[in-house]
Amino acid sequence: MFCMKKTLSGIKIECVQGDIASQPGIDAVVNAANAQLRIGGGVAGAIHRAAGPGLEQECRPLSPIRPGEAVITGAHNLPNTYVIHCLGPVYGQDRPESLLLANCYRNALKLAEENEIRSVAFPAISTGAFGYPIEDAANVALKTITEILPYLKNVAIIRFVLFGKSDLEVFRDTLESL
Ligand code: ADP
Repeated sequence: MFCMKKTLSGIKIECVQGDIASQPGIDAVVNAANAQLRIGGGVAGAIHRAAGPGLEQECRPLSPIRPGEAVITGAHNLPNTYVIHCLGPVYGQDRPESLLLANCYRNALKLAEENEIRSVAFPAISTGAFGYPIEDAANVALKTITEILPYLKNVAIIRFVLFGKSDLEVFRDTLESL
């Protein structure tokens, strides 16, 4: 499997190509959720299908969430301990997009820290159905995370899981340039 790794502020950042619903060995996977925290297409579909119906049940009282917000649940049948659900901005609709997207990463890592989570895997939030251009999204994701790294006490591994090879290349190049 192609993989790029870089250690910044003592924290390992990885970019891999793969399926966010198949990340054993990672404590928390992040869901590119919809506001209702229901099963959907893309990441939300893959996560809910693999987790089973118990995940939607646990999500029901936590919904709806707003763009930039994050909530945490158990992982049910996924090979992880937690799922952190983030609602990304719809590109061209929820503004300012870059702030709302950055808030997803900030709030997800805040929840990870509060729950003493060591490893987190993110998909490229908002870059599918929500239409955020991948280069801009990679910039926001990696710059936001880099700003937070010095403050992290529990999180030691942050992995980006990209579905497509070209998306992986964009994240890899962005990470290399940091
Ligand atoms: P959003 O609604 O936030 O745009 P999507 O789930 O539609 O979220 O897509 C977000 C990104 O995740 C897209 O780049 C898409 O190609 C990718 N993706 C889709 N399915 C998976 C999966 N199973 N694992 C990892 N990434 C995925």
